[in-house]
Amino acid sequence: MELRIGNGYDVHALEEGLPMWLGGVNIPSAIGFVAHSDGDVAIHALCDAILGALALGDIGHLFPDTSDEWRGIDSKILLAKVVALIAERGWRVGNADITIALQLPKLAPYILTMRETLARVMGVPVDAVSVKATTTERLGFVGRGEGCEVWASVSVIKP
Ligand code: MG
Repeated sequence: MELRIGNGYDVHALEEGLPMWLGGVNIPSAIGFVAHSDGDVAIHALCDAILGALALGDIGHLFPDTSDEWRGIDSKILLAKVVALIAERGWRVGNADITIALQLPKLAPYILTMRETLARVMGVPVDAVSVKATTTERLGFVGRGEGCEVWASVSVIKP
């Protein structure tokens, strides 16, 4: 068995009146993400981690924000495409660990649904997907509510 690891990072700006998709889940919120896609910054970081593990570039390269094809797209579709891309090469996701830094709203009520959703899309057990949320104690752009920052780490395995 071969094992590799990857990490991904993404930031999206927040604005009033936009939808908030995070970890594949629609979070009730007065603020949401400015983006070309649905703005799911957690899935974007996760996709980049998976791609990074196999040195396949990044989602900006795979799904350019200059292309109308990806405008407003459900990021779960992008994640499914990334998982299919590594499957073509004989790899699958082992586990994923995601940290979301966001001041508001509180994400605790949605964490399990995010884990279940991401696990379903990636075809892995729920206990192979960790989602953690933190504030930044009102420090920096996250703390001022201007944006959301996400880090993702994954292992990928080739049986
Ligand atoms: Mg992004």
